[in-house]
Amino acid sequence: MARYSKTLHRIFKRDGILSRHLPHYQPRRAQFDMANTVLDCLLHDTHGLIEAGTGTGKSFGYALPAAWWALKREKRVIISTNTITLQQQLLEKELPMVKKVLATLDRELTDDFRFELAKGRGNYICKRRLQETLQASLSAEMTDGPVLRKLADALPGLTKGDRDDVPFPLPSSLFAVIQGDGEDCMGKNSPFFKECFIQNARKKLQDAQVIVVNHALFFTDLLLRRQGASILPNYDAVIMDEAHRVEDQVTNQFTYHISLEEINQLFYRFLRRRTPWARELDAPELHQQMEALRARIIVRLTEIFAPLARALAERPQNEYLLKRRISDPDELKPLFKEWKHAFIDKRKELELAEGESEAIIGLRRYITQIEQMEQMVWHILANAFPTEWATWVSYEEPKDAPDLLVRDDFAWAVTLHLYSAPIDVSGILRQELFNEKTVIMTSATLTTQGDFSFVANRMGIDDYKSMETPSPFNYEKQAMLLVPENVPAPTDAEFEPFLAAAMKEIVSATRGRTFLLFTSYSQMNRVYEGMKPWLAKYNLTGILHRPELSRDAMLAQFRSGKNHVLFGCESFWEGVDVPGDDLVCVVIAKLPFPVPSDPLTQARTKRLETMNKNSFHEYMLPFSILRLKQGFGRLIRTRRDKGMVIILDTRLLTKPYGARVLDSLPPAKLTRSMDDLHAFFAR
Ligand code: SF4
Repeated sequence: MARYSKTLHRIFKRDGILSRHLPHYQPRRAQFDMANTVLDCLLHDTHGLIEAGTGTGKSFGYALPAAWWALKREKRVIISTNTITLQQQLLEKELPMVKKVLATLDRELTDDFRFELAKGRGNYICKRRLQETLQASLSAEMTDGPVLRKLADALPGLTKGDRDDVPFPLPSSLFAVIQGDGEDCMGKNSPFFKECFIQNARKKLQDAQVIVVNHALFFTDLLLRRQGASILPNYDAVIMDEAHRVEDQVTNQFTYHISLEEINQLFYRFLRRRTPWARELDAPELHQQMEALRARIIVRLTEIFAPLARALAERPQNEYLLKRRISDPDELKPLFKEWKHAFIDKRKELELAEGESEAIIGLRRYITQIEQMEQMVWHILANAFPTEWATWVSYEEPKDAPDLLVRDDFAWAVTLHLYSAPIDVSGILRQELFNEKTVIMTSATLTTQGDFSFVANRMGIDDYKSMETPSPFNYEKQAMLLVPENVPAPTDAEFEPFLAAAMKEIVSATRGRTFLLFTSYSQMNRVYEGMKPWLAKYNLTGILHRPELSRDAMLAQFRSGKNHVLFGCESFWEGVDVPGDDLVCVVIAKLPFPVPSDPLTQARTKRLETMNKNSFHEYMLPFSILRLKQGFGRLIRTRRDKGMVIILDTRLLTKPYGARVLDSLPPAKLTRSMDDLHAFFAR
C-alpha cells in the first residue's frame, strides 16, 4: 500500500504529474485522501463509504486509483452513476485525463487501458429492424420514409450506432420501431450479426478495464445474473457514484408490476408475431388456442380489477397500500398452466423435428417470461408477504378513457396497475452485491451529522471503511443560510399565500438567478400560476419544471438570461450544476420529507414501528436531511461562487429535530432576518 500511496502522491502533489496535464490544477488534500482510501479498499477487498463534499474532485479521486488498480492487477471496475451528466463528464474529462496521467507512470501498461460506456440495447439502432422498416416504407406511404432513407444513407458513417451518433434528430416514434429489442433479436441468425452495433458495443466492453454505466442498467444486470444471464461482462469491483440514489434504483428494479396491458403484451409477442420465433412458427391451432386463453385470462382479471378501480376512483388518492390479499391467486393457476404447457409442447415438438434452433431458443425465453408473469401475478394477488413487500394498487386515468358513467368493466380494469416492491432492499444488496464484490459508494450526501449508519443500514453494508471529506469551499464566507422567523407552518392554510409573497420578495432582491425548489408538483404549479403575472410585470422570466421536458433544456433556458427564476421539483434538487453567478439563490419551500401517503413510505415506516423503532427519527428525518443537503448543494459549485440558501420551513426553528437538520448542513452563516437578504443582494 505504501508504494501505491507514494505513486498517488507523485500524481496529486503540487507540481506533480497531474499539474503537468492540468494547467490550473489546485492540489486538494481531500481528493488525495479519497484516492488513497479508494485504493486501500480495492487492494484489501473492503467496502467503502465516502462522503465527498462538493468541490472535492471526487470523480477523479476514485477514477484514477480504480484504473491504476485494474491495470496493475488485471481487474475490471464498474463505475455506476445516476445521471447522464456525470457519465459524460467521466467519459469526456476524467477518464481521458486518467489515461494521460497513467501513461506518464507506465506508458507500456497504459497502452492497453480501455474505458467504455455500457448502454442498454434500446439505445442502439438494430440494422435488421431498420432494413425491414425501410422496406415497409417503400411499399406503403410512410411519413417517416424520407428520414428513414436519410438514416440508411448515414448508416455507414456511424461508429457507435446509438441515437446520439445520428447527426440529425430522429422522431421518437420512428426510433421505437428500429431500436434494439432483446425479444426481437435474431442473434447469430441475423443477417447483420457480424456488423451489429449492439454486438460490437458488447465486444468492446470485454476489452475495457473500466466500464461506466448508469444505476438502472447496473441493477438490471444484477437482477439478470440471478437468472444466469447478464449484460455486463464479469467485473471485480464497483464504484457507485451518486450513491444516495441506490436504494431508489434497487427498489425500482425489483418492483413487480402487473396490469391488463402487460398481460396482453405478453400474449401479443406470439399472437401478433412481434418476435422472430413467432414469425417463424406456423401453428394456426396454437394461435386459436392462445386467442381463447387470452380472452379467458383477461375476463377473469377484469372481474378482479374492475371493482378495485371503481373504488379507487371515488377516493381522494389514486394509490393505496394493500393490507390483505386481493384474490385467491391459485384460481389462475390452471390458466397459466395451459399457457405455459402449450408452448412447452410446441418446443418439444420442434426439438424432435429440427434439434436446436433460434425458434427453440426464443420459445424457451418466452416460456420463462410466462413463468415470471405467473409468479408476479401470484405474488401480487396473494400479497402473502406484507411485512417484506409493499403491495399497492394505482388508478391511472387513461387519456382516451370513456366517461365514468358509461365505462364497462373492462374499461375500468385497464385503468388499474398493481405493484409490489421490497420494503427493505438491504437483504437483496447484501446477498447479491456486497457478498460478491468490492463496492465503494460515494456521494456528496451520505451522512447525517457525520454519521453513515442510516445509509449503511438501508443498503445492507455491514463492514466498511468510511471517510468524510469536507468540501474545500469556504461556506462561512461564500454562503449565507436564511431561515426566516414568523413563517406559517406548512400545514397552515396561510402557508401557500405566504410562500408566494416570500418568493416575490426574494426574487425582487435577487433580480432572478434563483431556484425555487418544491416538494410537490401541485404546490409548485399553484405558486407559479399565482406569481406569473407579477414576474412578467417586473420583467422576470419564470421557468416551470415540467416532467415531460428535458432537464438539460430547462437548465439551458435558465442559464440563457440573468432574470430567470426556475420553479423546480424532484430532479432539480440534485445533479444540477450551475456554477458562477447564473445561480445566486436557492429557495427551499419545505423540508423534503418522504410523502407519508406514498404506499412505499407507509410500508417502510410501518415496518420500523413493528420493530419498535421510531420511524420518524430512523427514516423520515435522515431521508429528509440527505435530500435537503442535495438541494443546498445546488448553490456553491466553485470557490468563487457566492449566494444564499433560504429555507421557508419554520420547523427548523420550532421543532426539536431542527438543530439536527441544521447541524448536518454545510457551515454557512445562519440568519433569521429578511433584512439580511436585502443587505446580501444590495452589495
Ligand atoms: S443481431 Fe439482433 S440487434 Fe443486431 S442487427 Fe441483428 S437482429 Fe438487430
